[in-house]
Amino acid sequence: MLGLMQHQSLLVSSLIEHACLNHPEREIVSRSSEGPLQRSTYGSVARRARQMANALTRLGVQPGERVATLAWNGYRHMELYYAVSGMGAILHTINPRLFAEQITYIANHAQDQYLFFDIGFAGLIEQLAPSMPGVKGFIAMTDRAHMPAANIPNLLCYEELIAGESEQYVWPEFDENSAATLCYTSGTTGHPKGVLYSHRSTVLHAMAVCSTDGLAVSAADSALVVVPMFHVNAWGMPYAGALCGAKLVLPGPQMDGKSIYELMRDERVTLSLGVPTVWLMLFRHVETQQLDPRAELCMTRCVIGGAAAPLSMIEQFESRFGATVIHAWGMTEMSPLGTVCKLLPKHAALPAAERHKLQMKQGRAVFGVTLKITDDDGNALPHDGVAFGHLKVRGPWIASGYFGGEGGQVLDEQGYFDTGDVATIDADGYMLITDRAKDVIKSGGEWISSIDLENAAMDHPDVAEAAVIGIAHPTWQERPLLVAVRKAGRDVTRDELLAHLESRVAKWWRPDDVVFVEELPHTATGKLQKMKLREMFRDYRLP
Ligand code: ADP
Repeated sequence: MLGLMQHQSLLVSSLIEHACLNHPEREIVSRSSEGPLQRSTYGSVARRARQMANALTRLGVQPGERVATLAWNGYRHMELYYAVSGMGAILHTINPRLFAEQITYIANHAQDQYLFFDIGFAGLIEQLAPSMPGVKGFIAMTDRAHMPAANIPNLLCYEELIAGESEQYVWPEFDENSAATLCYTSGTTGHPKGVLYSHRSTVLHAMAVCSTDGLAVSAADSALVVVPMFHVNAWGMPYAGALCGAKLVLPGPQMDGKSIYELMRDERVTLSLGVPTVWLMLFRHVETQQLDPRAELCMTRCVIGGAAAPLSMIEQFESRFGATVIHAWGMTEMSPLGTVCKLLPKHAALPAAERHKLQMKQGRAVFGVTLKITDDDGNALPHDGVAFGHLKVRGPWIASGYFGGEGGQVLDEQGYFDTGDVATIDADGYMLITDRAKDVIKSGGEWISSIDLENAAMDHPDVAEAAVIGIAHPTWQERPLLVAVRKAGRDVTRDELLAHLESRVAKWWRPDDVVFVEELPHTATGKLQKMKLREMFRDYRLP
């Protein structure tokens, strides 16, 4: 017998219409490419998204076709999130920090029909346009007064495009499994591959983001979304924000410590989301300017993901900002939310040091995501917090394959996707990433976790950032090399750092050498670029 409940497709358009009805005045504040802060609202984003849907219809965009963006976090980008997906076309967010050839490759691979860009990327578009013959028009996301002078074919102006359009548009109803957005993974090997999110997966994921044991985003929040809208839909925040009516603060192209701090202070931010690198820049600013975030800000939570949150970061947010770190884990193929680290009632009485240690774990699966760890042969390993193996995931917002069939079959016989991460899971379900499968250091047949070593090194008060890579070794196959960045004005030495690690990691894990550098290479999304680092140290000989 079937239930007697109404059927309604879970569509992205329903989120913005909900926000328009229930939170029309709630603000979307953006730092714009033109310069000043722009104050919009959910009501305005909804009306302008409808105007844009009318404009795109006039341009001949058909359901299922791809429309691309090359843009920072801002209200126009958000309007496109809703206009493009809402009308049944597919929003393809392109990461502007990719190499030029990669941008061309993915725009052509996705067969993008139109490409919207922030004016700061006009030069890049001018250079790339000739190699994107399929793109029918390039739309500068600005008004007439700020149109770039670049030589770009079929150049249109965003504000002119929507100016004459009606604010009335009836969002079409269609199968909730239809594609809504497309995002390519950075592709550390081979070409980038496209992850194709559906309307259903996007709405379900937004509900998980808002849930209390998810990221608990609510109407009471002013959320600073530092995670980029061009990468995994800014962790779903443009959707989650509309679902619950949270104020959104979008930093545009300025993600330096000073700009971020000012937004936190002036927009009364309660919740921030970003990768560790961004917070390191924020800490540097707070330190050099001798600021008092506890007194000046009202941030209570900081969601850290994309890379492991180091202990010192968890401590500093608590002591200097009065903010709890919510460590989360996921990946492009997972929309991205997989696990969230929140404590259980039994942890309430833990001393701070032990609590912080627990917070370094990536956390427990949110409802909708099932985890397992396996050995090399695919046999399930116990959830005892000790055994570590390949981390595999299953759920309704996890990829079942890549756009265009690239990469072939990606699920195992039970329907699990291999994340490429290596992890432990304890009896309470807390997952801890011990490494990426390709970064783990294989020494004498045993695995050494590069992340554990990095965390231990970053515990040292003089160390700003640290990376550990495996260096070929005649006896042990590989041995760890620690590459560290000193904090400004500090002078920790190699031997001091090795002595610091002595009490923190097993003897055979200790790096064979330490090299200090001015800066570590990062990927387009602010993660350590281990591949580049391995290349830099290819000819390095351990002592
Ligand atoms: P890319 O694949 O382009 O690096 P993703 O955002 O898809 O970008 O990266 C996902 C990967 O990032 C995960 O598989 C994991 O290795 C790493 N990661 C994400 N969150 C965390 C975290 N909290 N701690 C450690 N690693 C993380």
